[in-house]
Amino acid sequence: MRIKRISKHVWSISTWLIVPINVWLVKDEKGLILVDAGIPMMANGILKYIDQLNFGPLSRILLTHGHSDHVGAIKKIRSKRNVPVYAHQEVIPFIEGKFPYPRRKKAQVLIEPSITTPLDEDAQQQLKPIGDLIPHHTPGHSPGHVVYYHQKVNILIGGDLFTSRRQRIRKPMSMFTANMAQAIKSGQIVKKLKPKSLCVCHGNEVQDPHKQYDLLREKLLS
Ligand SMILES: [Zn+2]
Ligand SMILES: [Zn+2]
Repeated sequence: MRIKRISKHVWSISTWLIVPINVWLVKDEKGLILVDAGIPMMANGILKYIDQLNFGPLSRILLTHGHSDHVGAIKKIRSKRNVPVYAHQEVIPFIEGKFPYPRRKKAQVLIEPSITTPLDEDAQQQLKPIGDLIPHHTPGHSPGHVVYYHQKVNILIGGDLFTSRRQRIRKPMSMFTANMAQAIKSGQIVKKLKPKSLCVCHGNEVQDPHKQYDLLREKLLS
């Protein structure tokens, strides 16, 4: 596993299991937020890097969605640090094994029920910021998929909104994507926010992803 500083406030921690898997640490005044929790074998490394960075305690875990490669280290991390876990309300029943994910036969308990708290919404049903991160609902890859925008440093943590290769955004992995057309449409968020850098779970960061979006959309939806 390796850690990389992406900006003054954001680090990625990466490993490899057939594909690259990234999770992120985001510094704010309360300590460090973990965005996504990778696979079980990443737990000790994540805790070690949190201690090494020495920017305060782990304050909470935010999920882009609940696929097993994004929640795997939660059990172990929470056995050592009792922090809250947040996800979009639409994905929580799938995470808790009440229904199988779309296109899957069996439901699976990925996080024990009643641990995951829904992200808060305002009266206009906009998701409320958590620390410096603004969640945006981007369904398609999975129900209740969200991305987290760090406005101050203009970085978008995109989870599985896209994958990336050689500085290009690509579609999310087809096999695990519930509704590809909807996922690609949700990808428009990069045109709205115009982040200077997009972080994805499965691939390296992509600079100015909004400049590539129309081409990808045309290729995939034509
Ligand atoms: Zn996924
Ligand atoms: Zn994934």
